[in-house]
Amino acid sequence: MSFRLNDEQKGATMEAAKNIIRDVQDFPKEGIIFKDITPLLGNPVLFQKTINTLKERYVNMKVDVVVGVEARGFIFASALAYALGIGVVMIRKPGKLPYKTFQETYSLEYGIDTIEIHQDAFISGQNILIIDDVLATGGTLAATLDLIQKNFDDVKVVEAAFLIELDFLKGREKLKGTPVHSMIHY
Ligand code: AMP
Repeated sequence: MSFRLNDEQKGATMEAAKNIIRDVQDFPKEGIIFKDITPLLGNPVLFQKTINTLKERYVNMKVDVVVGVEARGFIFASALAYALGIGVVMIRKPGKLPYKTFQETYSLEYGIDTIEIHQDAFISGQNILIIDDVLATGGTLAATLDLIQKNFDDVKVVEAAFLIELDFLKGREKLKGTPVHSMIHY
């Protein structure tokens, strides 16, 4: 019996995923064009395509754990980790993680921000994949890398993966040699 794609599955390309992401002008403040991924998340075929495409990339890369960055990173981290049959670690805003944490504070355009991770998040020798929805200026990812690299000696960040990269902000230049993979570029 030959394998045939139905119409819905044929339309499930990363190009279609790019097209369904919505630009919201001036959110959360004037001058920002916010990449709204909720139409993609709500589309079962395109969401599954996105996770399957990530799975195909990482299934043979010996990843031991997926690190999701609050909050939209959690959606992709948990779906991908489930697909790969591995665990998830959360990087969260201050005061959300219940156990002992390490912290990293970093500069934003206006002010500073802090992220936290549990002190027992990794075990020695683990290969880590970091995942978030958008790579913009790279500040969040640089802080995430610092948080991991300063506090955990013997783990390796295999790659940082993003659904979307805003190329014009040159975020990947901040990333000190960590491989970066983005599925959709603007
Ligand atoms: P950055 O630290 O500048 O790379 O920003 C990364 C974080 O901010 C990501 O976790 C995104 O969720 C969010 N973000 C930044 N810019 C945008 C944008 N234009 N649209 C949607 N999310 C954004």
